[in-house]
Amino acid sequence: MFEKILIANRGEIALRINQACRELGIATVAVHSTADTESLHVTYADEGICIGPPPSSESYLNITAILAAAEITGAEAVHPGYGFLAENASFAEMVHECHLAWIGPRPESIRLMGDKSKARQTAAAAGVPVIPGSSEPLQTPEEARRLAAELGFPVILKASAGGGGRGMRIARREGEIESLFETASEEAERAFGDGAIYMEKYLVEPRHIEFQILADRFGRVVHLGERECSIQRRHQKLIEEAPSPALTPALRREIGATAVQLAENVGYENAGTVEFLLDQDGSFYFMEMNTRIQVEHPVTELVSGVDLVKQQIRIAAGERLELENDFVPRGHAIECRINAEHPESFRPSPGRVTTFHPPGGPGIRVDTHVYERYVVPPHYDSLVAKIIAHGEDRDEAIARMQRALDFFVVEGVETTIPLHQRIVRDTDFRAGRLSTRFMERFLAEDRGDEPADS
Ligand code: ADP
Repeated sequence: MFEKILIANRGEIALRINQACRELGIATVAVHSTADTESLHVTYADEGICIGPPPSSESYLNITAILAAAEITGAEAVHPGYGFLAENASFAEMVHECHLAWIGPRPESIRLMGDKSKARQTAAAAGVPVIPGSSEPLQTPEEARRLAAELGFPVILKASAGGGGRGMRIARREGEIESLFETASEEAERAFGDGAIYMEKYLVEPRHIEFQILADRFGRVVHLGERECSIQRRHQKLIEEAPSPALTPALRREIGATAVQLAENVGYENAGTVEFLLDQDGSFYFMEMNTRIQVEHPVTELVSGVDLVKQQIRIAAGERLELENDFVPRGHAIECRINAEHPESFRPSPGRVTTFHPPGGPGIRVDTHVYERYVVPPHYDSLVAKIIAHGEDRDEAIARMQRALDFFVVEGVETTIPLHQRIVRDTDFRAGRLSTRFMERFLAEDRGDEPADS
């Protein structure tokens, strides 16, 4: 086992990794920007190293500074968390070149799955159903128009290098294709340095269902069931739960087996997530694979009893996975992502937190790096806390979440707690009637708009 790990991240996930290291008796090195000197991920680490000024491009994405910090402190492994450098294959390669262990999949797997168009081809070749669409990136708007006519509208244009819900455009009519193709491609070039665009049929009201995979280097691959992440705003997840109210044990086995099959096919190692869209008729399609720990991993931890971060570390240290492929969820877990944002306009609300009283009690876990007097910096993601509620069944998990949201006191910055309070009281939410269009309708009703016609 490793003796010292460098955590190349910040915020709640850096703390979460620190917790896992503590339990395994591993010393930690925190890297931080000058904006995060007073952050808990630094306070709780055995060593802290400042790697640059506040902008991420000069600190949390500063590869040279991070590798130098590992070298100076004698760390043996790097855990990248999520975001920042977690899915940067070149960084993973450099970590290996510096004779450090990378707590994540092999760089080839990151590169393969990071190109979403290639990932689609790989999934299709492994016998996993993919959404009807292009098998190669589209070269011209003309080609896009032809394929769209073949698939039937609506279609979605996606950046091959995309992520975080960015670089996607929905075309509803033939006349829109040309200009959307051009904007999507330009935007992808600007955001990801790669203008390649591919197309999929746009499913009208699917559910987002993703499977958690763990794989060791000896070829054992298991899945720990699904998370439903259909509650999204602008393709960004707000609420996740496990299990999905839409899956029967048989469908879970079937989709889970294809996720395992894909991971086996590419010789995947460590934790990963295979994302699917589940259509209303029960068909499911591969969407993409995320080659890192996910924000929403705690719901899986609560229904599986498996500590995913510790598993990641053990796998990277060369240990064998001791789990079987016989996953059955225990109870129900729901996560609400609390952001420092105005709950109606979603404008970021950085600043000093004057009161912070997180909820506790039966079945409640709060993953947060925030404390009273902490200053939420304006430079990073606005996630300030994740509340995860676990109950014997979905109703109990919802009741616990509702109580936890009501008892969560945060003052000084605005948060999305009031939004979550309204969602968990919504009739459709409570009935498990979810789809990726849920929030669109919910927000329109909230504003008193007429329902959308499509
Ligand atoms: P990212 O990597 O940017 O998160 P994804 O490919 O995972 O992008 O898609 C994010 C979300 O966009 C999905 O959860 C879903 O809501 C929506 N989406 C993506 N592809 C489709 C599609 N073909 N049809 C309908 N919705 C889609």
